[in-house]
Amino acid sequence: MFDPDCFAKSGKWAPEDTRKWQDAVLSQPADSRRDYEANVVSRLQKLDSNHISLTTYRTSQSGDEKFDHLFVTIGDLGNGNPNILLIGGVHGNEPSGVEACVRIAEQFNESADPPDINIVIFPCLFPWSYVHNQRWVYEDALDPNRHMIVGGSDFGRVSTAESFMFEIADMPPFAIALDFHETNDSDIKLWRKMRTKRYGGKSNGDGNRNPNGFHLMASECPDTLKEERKKIAQKILSNVAQHSRITTCASVTGYPCKVGTVWASGDKRGFTRTFLNSYANHVFVTEVVPELLAANEEEMFEKAVQCQLAAFEAALDHLRPAV
Ligand SMILES: [Zn+2]
Repeated sequence: MFDPDCFAKSGKWAPEDTRKWQDAVLSQPADSRRDYEANVVSRLQKLDSNHISLTTYRTSQSGDEKFDHLFVTIGDLGNGNPNILLIGGVHGNEPSGVEACVRIAEQFNESADPPDINIVIFPCLFPWSYVHNQRWVYEDALDPNRHMIVGGSDFGRVSTAESFMFEIADMPPFAIALDFHETNDSDIKLWRKMRTKRYGGKSNGDGNRNPNGFHLMASECPDTLKEERKKIAQKILSNVAQHSRITTCASVTGYPCKVGTVWASGDKRGFTRTFLNSYANHVFVTEVVPELLAANEEEMFEKAVQCQLAAFEAALDHLRPAV
């Protein structure tokens, strides 16, 4: 982890500021890098079920590094059964969602029968960030977040994110979309400081400490969907509670939180404006707090993955009775 004070300049970064940050990332020890090929690509290439397909929707180049951007389709999206969308690796420093995505694909690969729920998995949206354990992406040091807006947010300005959004727009609608995240220590110790230094402003009180447990983020919705959305949220929280404490905070990063869920309303909140709201009935962002789960890093990671898998299982369970 580098010292945020070395990026003291605030305001819009010039290209040389971005380069300075990219160089700092690339000069970190090679053994601190994750292996995207081994952890994601080669495991997905081994999938051989008739019900699963792997698509390379984009290749990208970040400095000297090249990446394939992949998604997995499990089942037949047009067969009338419900569809679920899973997204990992929006933030490269939150690896549990990436691992959960790959394991879900592997798990369905074991089954000879077609799935009763169709699943689309984008396991790792920003591979460079995942490899280098960064929240920001290489391209212009953009800070993608949950607010996925075409051209209208840092997320929408990342060229590979735009490709992802085009892919989704071509697919049949989803019953549920889960975007797997973590609120880990580096958020507090590094990224919020980096953001404040770069963009100015100040972090609010509870933005400077981690929420005390797993939480969901969801947007408020029309009355017709409200009860179902609450039911899914409760199901996810009770499943995840077997692996993690659920936050008791009444406020998370400055936003009100009720029974483990931040219910966003209005247009100011980035994730209510995600384009996913147009393509999925119910969109949830999971936020695992890994440091609460174990003291050693390996165990912490494994438990965080279990939380993400538990959230997915709950979503699956919710849809199953309707099949
Ligand atoms: Zn995140």
